[in-house]
Amino acid sequence: MVDPQLLRQAAAMLRQARRILVITGAGLSADSGLPTYRGLGGLYNGVTAEGLPIEEALSGPMLQQDPALCWKYLAQLGRACLGAQPNAGHAAIARLQQEKPECWVLTQNIDGYHRQAGSAPERLIEIHGHFSPLYCQACGAVDENLEAHLAAPLPPLCSRCGGILRPPVVLFEERLPEAALDDLYEQIERGFDAVLCVGTTASFPYIQEPVLRTRASGGVTLEINPEPTVLSAWMDLCIEARALDVLPKVISHIFFD
Ligand SMILES: [Zn+2]
Repeated sequence: MVDPQLLRQAAAMLRQARRILVITGAGLSADSGLPTYRGLGGLYNGVTAEGLPIEEALSGPMLQQDPALCWKYLAQLGRACLGAQPNAGHAAIARLQQEKPECWVLTQNIDGYHRQAGSAPERLIEIHGHFSPLYCQACGAVDENLEAHLAAPLPPLCSRCGGILRPPVVLFEERLPEAALDDLYEQIERGFDAVLCVGTTASFPYIQEPVLRTRASGGVTLEINPEPTVLSAWMDLCIEARALDVLPKVISHIFFD
């Protein structure tokens, strides 16, 4: 049970902030029952039936070298995305963005749930891409039939040219999308009054940097995660809980207290 006073404190910090960055990771989607790349790896004890580390099976080079094998594991991610839904945590974040027109969301998740929950696409940075719609690697055509492709033999092929389709996600050994990085760094330059980390344990530079810079410029930093993370030392406030349980309460305190 989280101390209700902590939730009010978090709400007070966010209420005062104009420019807010919410950073979300696997923990938020795990609350929807979704495995992540790493979580999916966990299903195989880190090794696929072919004896490969899951990071190798789900890599950019593997998609080129053996598309059927890579797609065997991509398809599991795709089915997981289609089989679950955004949760109350996603909805609370979308609500915060509606009330705070300078609130941005940076997510590591590829499930598209922020968009589905109503987050403003122009203030959403999906740094690892999103699973759907697929596109053709040969001709670039966009293909909206993910569900049908997942029920058919893999890899899915382009109806226009027969090329192999892929999701616009960042596979292992691939680079982050430049447009998303540009958007992020433009906003980091403009500065944030508050950064809220939700369900992420990652220590990538693009997560650490906004946290550290916001602190250095006198802003506040908050974290909601079931366990302490590498980011916890830099937080003004940590709430050790699942986002699904506490985020809706924090957000409603902001606007109703
Ligand atoms: Zn094509």
